Order: sequence, then structure tokens, then C-alpha cells
Amino acid sequence: MEATVNRGTQTQTQTQTETDIAVVGGGPVGGLMACTLARAGYTVRLFERGPAPDPEHPREDTRGYALAAGSVTLLDDLGYWAELATTAAPIRRIVVSRRGGLGRVRMDAAQMGREALGQVVPAAALDPLLARARDAAGVASHHATTLAGVEAAEDGARRLHLEGPDGAWSCRARLLIAADGVGSPTREALGIPVQRHRYDADALVFDVRPSRAHDGEAFERFTDEGPLALLPQADGRMNVVWVAPPEVCDARLELDEPARMAALQERFGWALGRLHPAGDVLRFPLQRMHAPQPFAERALLLGNAAHSVHPVAGQGLNLALRDVADLLGVLREGAQPDGRPAFVADPGGRHVLEAWARRREGDIRRIVGVTDFLARGMRHVDGLLGHALGLGMMTVDRVPPLRDAFARGAMGLRPVPRHTLSRLPEARA
Ligand SMILES: Cc1cc2nc3c(=O)[nH]c(=O)nc-3n(C[C@H](O)[C@H](O)[C@H](O)COP(=O)(O)OP(=O)(O)OC[C@H]3O[C@@H](n4cnc5c(N)ncnc54)[C@H](O)[C@@H]3O)c2cc1C
Repeated sequence: MEATVNRGTQTQTQTQTETDIAVVGGGPVGGLMACTLARAGYTVRLFERGPAPDPEHPREDTRGYALAAGSVTLLDDLGYWAELATTAAPIRRIVVSRRGGLGRVRMDAAQMGREALGQVVPAAALDPLLARARDAAGVASHHATTLAGVEAAEDGARRLHLEGPDGAWSCRARLLIAADGVGSPTREALGIPVQRHRYDADALVFDVRPSRAHDGEAFERFTDEGPLALLPQADGRMNVVWVAPPEVCDARLELDEPARMAALQERFGWALGRLHPAGDVLRFPLQRMHAPQPFAERALLLGNAAHSVHPVAGQGLNLALRDVADLLGVLREGAQPDGRPAFVADPGGRHVLEAWARRREGDIRRIVGVTDFLARGMRHVDGLLGHALGLGMMTVDRVPPLRDAFARGAMGLRPVPRHTLSRLPEARA
């Protein structure tokens, strides 16, 4: 690959280049991180193994991301929400219940003086938005490009070896960010250890059209097979996340559509009337994975490369967006004369990485723990424990401060460095 490097007024073409920050992985997390870092003034290169997004052929991803209110604020502060909002559906109420059990918790945005508890955004809407945002922010995006190797840090940088459409090339970066998903080849190359548990469960994800209007209601139903969630979509559809042991998923995928809908209806009930199929079914294997120390010298792990959680309660991307915001917060160093945030010159220094990991540790452990408890603990509850959980749900529902605390947790409401995010320039200065 021949890379063009701008140095002052001179332009050189060569097979080696330099950047402040290299991001490997152009999913939602790597894509957003690259934009914000470029807007903070760093030179950023992004390497994505997939092709450049093509508006005519959007990536096939049937997921609807439930974004907590805190994540929506974050995207709004960055100036990206207005466009995403056109595809989003507000979650006005969340009903949490247990199949065949007592009690349910009903969280209502209006009762909390809010318009929505969160928003559901089609995963496919993020790709084109972030691709445009990256271009606008001045990120150099390299598609169809993978990391072939990474050298140990030397002289304040790491050298990355890359394979692209035009062959092999290399790039020196003061900070390498691995955002290449749960299998992260970059994490493997860096030798960062993880703790992993493969759930005995997969998720089937698809859209349905209910005969009754959803009116912004989201459902999370715990069953003996695993959780079943239905999330409202902007066009009246509901996005289904149906978790079950792999062999049950096999059997459900072999059913024809009417039989699959009948099985879903039997599991979910009739709160939304009759459910009609409205799109393809995708399958996701589920695991809990996290890196206790998500960094190495001049490198850090972000998003699914650092932590993958069970989709119950829709927390994974929300958690990763807080990783992004906190990295900006840690890199911030005072303000410029015009009041705009100033950022440290060296983004890959050890003190930066340690400070960021310290700031993230509690949040990551909490979400990994809570989602793991909900995924495993709620599956086999019967007898006394089942009744106790049912009573617990009823109690939470009837004690407004408890219910509101529960809802605030679900909304991801915690302080993010808003003064940093909302004052980033549009493009790198
Ligand atoms: C069924 C399901 C439902 C979910 N629902 C929600 C929800 O409602 N709310 C929520 O907050 N979260 C949800 N999540 C979690 C969410 O999907 C993840 O948090 C999110 O996808 C993480 O994004 P990422 O960018 O870190 O990783 P990915 O989306 O995995 O992106 C990684 C990118 O890296 C690229 N890549 C991989 N290897 C290389 C390489 N060697 N070189 C270059 N590029 C590479 C890939 O092509 C990809 O583009 C759900 C997850 C599942 C499975």
C-alpha cells in the first residue's frame, strides 16, 4: 500500500507512515473513537478489514441498539444525535417480567418526568453516519486492510504491519487502539489476557410487526431458556432478541416462518396482539469476556475487544460509549485561550493509559457482573427463589424510589465529561 503523508508543504508517497493514533476496527466503537480523537486534534488512521460502507448495499445487521439516555446525551454532545434521531424510536416504558412467575417491573419515563428512558437505533444506521463523520473529522480510513503484526513499543511508538488492497505496508503510531471486536486479532498480537465464559446460549435477532401499536413500550421477559426482549422500532416494528441454548436455536432456525412465529407468540404472549415476521433472522453466539487490564505499552483495548457482555438489558455498546467518553476526558488537559478543550500532546503515555483504565474499571466490572447475573441467575429460578424474585419485582414496582433507581441504572445516567465532548471542533485544527 502506498500511503501519502503530508509534511508541511511537502507531500511524499511511501510504504511507511506515521500517525498519532492508529485505530484497528471500524465498527461503531472504533469509528466513533476515531472521529472524536481527530476532532481533538490528533492525526488518526483507521484500519478496517471490511469494505468501505456502500449506501446501496448496507451491512446486514438486524440488531436494534437500545441506547440508554446517557448514551443519547453523549452522541448529542458530539453533534451526531440529530441525524441518528431520524431513525430512532423512543423507549417510553420498559416492562420486565418472568415467564410463568409472579410480578413485573414497569418503568415509565413519564412518571420520572422524562420523555424517554432510551432510544432504539438500527445498527445499520450507524455505519454510514460514522463513515461521513470520519471523513469530516479528517480521519484517514483504510478499508479492506488488516493488521498483520505489531512490534514492541520503541522510541515512544509502535510499528504496525498492515495488509491492504495494494499489499503490505507499515505505520508507526504513538497509540494503538484495538477496536476489532470480541475475537480481536490485535489483542492477541499484543498478548493481553482475557477472562472468558461461553454462555450455553445464542441469540436469534429479527424484526416482527405486531398487530397492536407498540406505543414505545419495550419488553424484557425472563424465561427458563434465557431472556426474550422486544424493542420498539421507529417504523412500528419490534426488534426481537431471543436467547436460547444453541440446540434450541438450531431447531427454531429449521422451522418455517409461521411455525417460528407461533413459538415466539407462545413464549412472549399477546401483549402486542399477533406478531408477523418482518425480516431476516441473524444468529449471535454469546459470551462474557473481559480484559482485567485493558492496555499494554502504547496500546489499549476498546469496546468488544475489551469486554463483551450478554445482550440482556442491552448494555454492551452503552458501556463502550462510556469508554470513548472517558478516554477523551483523560486526554483533556485544561483549556485553550478560546475556551475549547486542550489535549495532551502524547496520547499513548503510560499515565494516560493507567488513568483511563482506573476510571473505567468500576463501570466495566459492574456491567459485566450485572449482565452475567441476569443471564445466568434468572434462567433457572423456580420454587421459593422464583417467588422471592417475583416479590422483589413487585416491591421494586411499588416503591417509586427503588423503581426509579432501577430505571436510572438502565438509562446509564452518570456524569460524562460533557464540557469536553460538546466543545470539540468539527474537524481537526
Ligand atoms: C444480539 C445482540 C444484541 C445487542 N444489543 C445491544 C443493545 O441493545 N444495546 C447495546 O448497548 N449493546 C448491544 N449489543 C452489544 C453491541 O453489539 C456491541 O457492544 C458492539 O457491537 C461493539 O462494537 P465494537 O465496535 O466494539 O465491535 P464490532 O461491532 O464487533 O466491530 C469490530 C470491527 O472490527 C473489524 N475487524 C475485526 N478484525 C479486524 C482486523 N483484523 N483488522 C481490521 N478490522 C477488523 C470488524 O470488521 C468490525 O467492523 C448487542 C449485542 C448482541 C450480540
